[in-house]
Amino acid sequence: MVRIRKALDGLPSYKPGRPAAPAAGAEQAFKISSNENPYPPLPGVLEAVTATAASLNRYPDMFATGLVSALADRFGVPPEHVATGTGSVGVLQQVVQATAAEGDEVIYAWRSFEAYPIVVGISGATAIQVPLAHGARHDLTAMADAITDRTRVVFVCTPNNPTGPAVRHDELAAFVRRVPEDVLVVVDEAYREFVRDPEAADGIALYREHPNVCVLRTFSKAYGLAGLRVGFAIAHDEVADALRKTAVPFGVSGIAQRAAVESLAREAELLERVEALVAERARVYDALAAQGWEIPHTEANFVWLALGGQAVDFARFCEDAGLVVRPFAGDGCRVTIAEPEANDRLIRLAGEWRAR
Ligand code: PMP
Repeated sequence: MVRIRKALDGLPSYKPGRPAAPAAGAEQAFKISSNENPYPPLPGVLEAVTATAASLNRYPDMFATGLVSALADRFGVPPEHVATGTGSVGVLQQVVQATAAEGDEVIYAWRSFEAYPIVVGISGATAIQVPLAHGARHDLTAMADAITDRTRVVFVCTPNNPTGPAVRHDELAAFVRRVPEDVLVVVDEAYREFVRDPEAADGIALYREHPNVCVLRTFSKAYGLAGLRVGFAIAHDEVADALRKTAVPFGVSGIAQRAAVESLAREAELLERVEALVAERARVYDALAAQGWEIPHTEANFVWLALGGQAVDFARFCEDAGLVVRPFAGDGCRVTIAEPEANDRLIRLAGEWRAR
């Protein structure tokens, strides 16, 4: 029998959101389980993708030079400080591969992004999960207290998936000051473009002041390119170099690189769509609150319903009515803010659930 590393024993594989299958009697089914953008790519992006497809017989630019330079301009950072990967989850895996192994510790809040325990588990390092505090917010004091001389990395997910709150900038700045400089702080900002709270953390501002801060961003959410798998890190030289070493060779396809560059060039239009989603977020939040739901403040494109032991039942109830949400058994359901029709259905079903 082939010997698989012990670290993988009992480790689940990542669970994607289920596809939306039309339910009996429901006109159209909506998948609001993966925090995707409901809008399709812009026509100009699709045209660029089609044109790039003609050179699929060639490997892509391994270091995504065009995309890296566009990102460096966009964020005002040196191109050497930008490293791309197969989605930001791919970059996260590179980060952990570069920094932690058996005997090391990685700290993150829990509950947070489901990929964290998997990525850390694969590395063989020990995950130190620090419970969220009141309001489903990061407890940065407890996270700083959890640092030992074995700590190599801390993930801070802001806004936090799946609960929604963003970390405050002053809190994160104070936290980073407490972290030893040989410990990497990964600020996972997958949902940054949806943030409207002026006091919310700005990971890139902290990266500019601290060589041990690395920011993760993605084209999957606000930019609507989840299917192409392109994410990136902004980090100082030694971290960015390590990310280039741990990258899967040619992991970001030529199509993905081109689509990301073209999306950046059309950012204003894409951010208008984000604005519409932010407005929908407020509408959904207020409607659910009026029904009596207690929802943590959200700065992301989703809301968290703390259903406890009823999470799976609620997800089934929604699915029967053509709405696929994401249950976390025993804890809650995360629902993505999507097109108004999907949001309307969510509001209706959430109301029916409470009225049962
Ligand atoms: N970070 C967080 C907090 C996420 O929620 C996600 C996607 N669900 C990712 C990273 C990864 O996104 P992607 O790999 O598509 O860039």
